Amino acid sequence: MSVQLGMPQPREETAPALPSVPASRPADAPAGLADRYGRRATDMRLSLTDKCNLRCTYCMPAEGLEWLAKQAVMSAEEIVRIVRIGVDRLGVRELRLTGGEPLVRHDLVDIITSLRRNHPELPISMTTNGVGLAKKAAALKAAGLTRINVSLDSLHEETFTQLTRRPFLDQVLAGVDAAWAAGLGPVKLNAVLMRGINDLEAPSLLAWALDRGYELRFIEQMPLDADHGWTRRNMITAAEIRQLLSSDFVLSPDPRARDGAPAERFEVRRREAGSGSGPLLGTVGIIASVTEPFCSDCRRTRITAEGKIMSCLFSREEFDLLGLLRSGAGDDDLAQRWQDAMWLKPKAHGMDHVGLDAPDFVQPDRSMSAIGG
Ligand code: SAM
Ligand code: SF4
Repeated sequence: MSVQLGMPQPREETAPALPSVPASRPADAPAGLADRYGRRATDMRLSLTDKCNLRCTYCMPAEGLEWLAKQAVMSAEEIVRIVRIGVDRLGVRELRLTGGEPLVRHDLVDIITSLRRNHPELPISMTTNGVGLAKKAAALKAAGLTRINVSLDSLHEETFTQLTRRPFLDQVLAGVDAAWAAGLGPVKLNAVLMRGINDLEAPSLLAWALDRGYELRFIEQMPLDADHGWTRRNMITAAEIRQLLSSDFVLSPDPRARDGAPAERFEVRRREAGSGSGPLLGTVGIIASVTEPFCSDCRRTRITAEGKIMSCLFSREEFDLLGLLRSGAGDDDLAQRWQDAMWLKPKAHGMDHVGLDAPDFVQPDRSMSAIGG
């Protein structure tokens, strides 16, 4: 069966992003990181730093952001303790390290080594821009990293430099190959398509990834850029992505269960003359956070680099876990704060509301790099 192209149908979860009256967590609430809407977070995204060595236009301003002071950022010991509470007490089953750019942390290998020692079975992945990855991939694997996601928006030097404002394409490509060679597969690649810049590259980017056995995922651009340049009209929707790919490929839904994953996966076959298609080449993922949101099945909890709990990328409320930890709180109190924060997780982010780029839409203050994507 091939994919239905056309405008996505809004789902039910187009409710207001924030409840009018915050409800406190009742004593008989389910265990773990449960919320008021019956979801339970088991997938933890932890930001290691707000710093980055690229300036992607959809994320950071050209001049960068004011970095957090060193002492404001979680130390290795603090990270290890927070993860231990998440895994041992609150049902976290999966950890993704992110940023900013996690590779700029000098103690990254030590952090992963400690996490792995505490949690021998925990899947630990990392999202990186790949700059400097070639040199570090083997050490990351040896430390216990399970697998890696590398962001790669273009294979053309000029386009890559235009999008990231840095001329590092060769380094990133070397990093991707080194990660695969080090055993950090399956290697997933993240691409954000920007209209008039790299959108027409979608089919060739997919062909390149399939040839090498990498799993490409296209991410819809979200209003999380520090420049506040996002507009609903200008973003490339999931429907357009499927349309762009259909020039070269036939996509059909991946029969494997989605299981709470943000990406909707499709099996990919090359389009052949007439209406035919070739043998299965691999899969592609599309993360349609804006036009086909998956909030009702969201399993994520986020910790920013300065130790704030965010229940959603679009939460306006943040809860200070690190401050509490540094005040001498015990594990029970820290776990309790985390549970209270997650209880207030919004039902939906509300990004798919019609008229989002109208003046009444308030974009979150933090950029993606400052939250941890
Ligand atoms: N620096 C690392 C990287 O780029 O992979 C990790 C952090 S980055 C914030 C994580 C992911 O968020 C990247 O794949 C990036 O493409 C994506 N991202 C950043 N800003 C975005 C936006 N406004 N909309 C959608 N995805 C975005
Ligand atoms: Fe840096 Fe990642 Fe943001 Fe690009 S997307 S500026 S690499 S944090």
